[in-house]
Amino acid sequence: MPHPTDGSCIFCKIVAGQIPCFKLLEDDKTIAFMDINPVNPGHALAVAKGHWPTVDVIPADVIAAVAQTAQKVAKAVVSELKPNGVNLIQANGAGAGQSVPHLHIHIMPRQAGDAVSLNWQPKPGDMKEIEAIFKKLKAAL
Ligand code: 5GP
Ligand code: ZN
Repeated sequence: MPHPTDGSCIFCKIVAGQIPCFKLLEDDKTIAFMDINPVNPGHALAVAKGHWPTVDVIPADVIAAVAQTAQKVAKAVVSELKPNGVNLIQANGAGAGQSVPHLHIHIMPRQAGDAVSLNWQPKPGDMKEIEAIFKKLKAAL
């Protein structure tokens, strides 16, 4: 089955070969290429070939394939670049910082002391509130 595309989407254009990328690998459901605005050297993206914007609408088999592609790239990043760590980051919606509404996982090499601000300070939650939300979510699963 052909995957959905959106003619105005930059990642659909990359998938279609209409604009260039540094392509790391490709299979029937996914493509991986270097991010052109790297947060750290080696920052890459694992991308679904089809145009599904977010985690809640992409088919399960496609997001599974994107995760597997991200793992392959992460293994190469770890073995070749030897960063202090790697974040896999996947944003959904503008409120989560998503700028390209076409599902992708960032493979982001990290160095101790880099200024990348993804971290938050954990602080204890209200158990009553956690439980109320837990019940709502569990009922939907
Ligand atoms: P998001 O903000 O949606 O999580 O991530 C989108 C990513 O796509 C950004 O890190 C941005 O640098 C990258 N990006 C945007 N346009 C292009 C492009 O034309 N080519 C490549 N290789 N990356 C892009
Ligand atoms: Zn797209």
